[in-house]
Amino acid sequence: MQLAARVNRISISPTASVLAAAERLRSQGVDLADFGPGEPDFPTPEHIVRAAIRALEQGKTKYTPVAGIGPLREAICKWHAGQFGSSYTVPETIVTVGGKHAIFNAFCSLLSAGDEVLIPAPYWVSYPDMVLYTGATPVPIMTDPKDGFRLRASQVEKAITAKTKLLIVNSPSNPSGAVVPDDEFVKIYEVCRAKNIWLMTDECYSHFVYGGGKPFSLASVPGTKPNIIVAGSLSKTFAMTGWRVGYALAPEPLISAMTKTQSQSTSNPTSIAQYAALEALTGSMDSVTAMLAEYSRRRDRIVAGLRAIPGVTCVEPGGAFYAFPSIAAHLGSGIPDSTALSKLLLERQHLVVVAGDAFGTPGYIRLSYATSMERIDEGLRRLAKFFSMAETAA
Ligand code: PLP
Repeated sequence: MQLAARVNRISISPTASVLAAAERLRSQGVDLADFGPGEPDFPTPEHIVRAAIRALEQGKTKYTPVAGIGPLREAICKWHAGQFGSSYTVPETIVTVGGKHAIFNAFCSLLSAGDEVLIPAPYWVSYPDMVLYTGATPVPIMTDPKDGFRLRASQVEKAITAKTKLLIVNSPSNPSGAVVPDDEFVKIYEVCRAKNIWLMTDECYSHFVYGGGKPFSLASVPGTKPNIIVAGSLSKTFAMTGWRVGYALAPEPLISAMTKTQSQSTSNPTSIAQYAALEALTGSMDSVTAMLAEYSRRRDRIVAGLRAIPGVTCVEPGGAFYAFPSIAAHLGSGIPDSTALSKLLLERQHLVVVAGDAFGTPGYIRLSYATSMERIDEGLRRLAKFFSMAETAA
């Protein structure tokens, strides 16, 4: 079949294919230790669910304005101002079908063939493909594991060319958990502003920072507005992955362009999900604090467990809910790369991890600790067993 070139440029999300293989085993009744999912294992908080039920009962089941219902756009601005100290107004806000859609929509509205987009690696799997879809070129910037995979302004400066249009920064990061220090983030922004390059900040994991760190947004820094795009999501913060609500904050002409793009593709995000999101952003955030505390305990457990396995090293993740250990010492002729390793782990130990290759970082695997302490311990046991058996076989 002759498909469009833009579709042939991209591939299905590699995380999706691992999850599909795991799902097949699960449906056969196999007991999986599942470190795969990039989503909270907590239920959506009750008060948010109730708001959606109320919306249904009140018949709020029709089209809404393309950029989202007015009260939600207002709530996003107010919530973001309250959480981070930004100062966006309703015309500078759009509600999207998840954070992924905010990024995709912004890319489609901004990027053209010939543009280059800087993507710090390890990166979220979708960034390069979304850039390729638009015809632009993804340019990875390798961050340093010895520096905790934190992006540095000097690395950005070196990667910029005359074609660079945008840099995307995801802090805390999926998959490494790295958090860019606030002052370094400002330096990175200054490098971009000096070269007239857009900086998109993906704040999807903003509220999951450990060790007493406070959520930070570049949008809190005065004067940044003309050069930055905030991509936000309710998926992780409020355990709302299936509801599909995200947003973008950006200069008005870009929001208008994104609204035009949205009007000819998805139209509005689901009406009842928008009412649920309104409750999430205006109601109590106690559940977010509780989730953070639990993720923090799990992080300590998984990092300690990984570091106890011979040949495995692990940078301490500062945020998000992923551990990203190096397993390079275990690769060789028997197991050539982390993709082969993740397949063997699934086959032999029924252990689900995502290969670092998918994130532009060979020699690593990603383990999501959005799973119970009991499953974390079980998964660590299986991983240790696999490596000790591989060692004996060698
Ligand atoms: N950005 C990052 C870094 C992510 O990991 C994800 C989801 O995994 C998203 C954005 C998008 O999330 P959603 O589309 O569910 O809001």
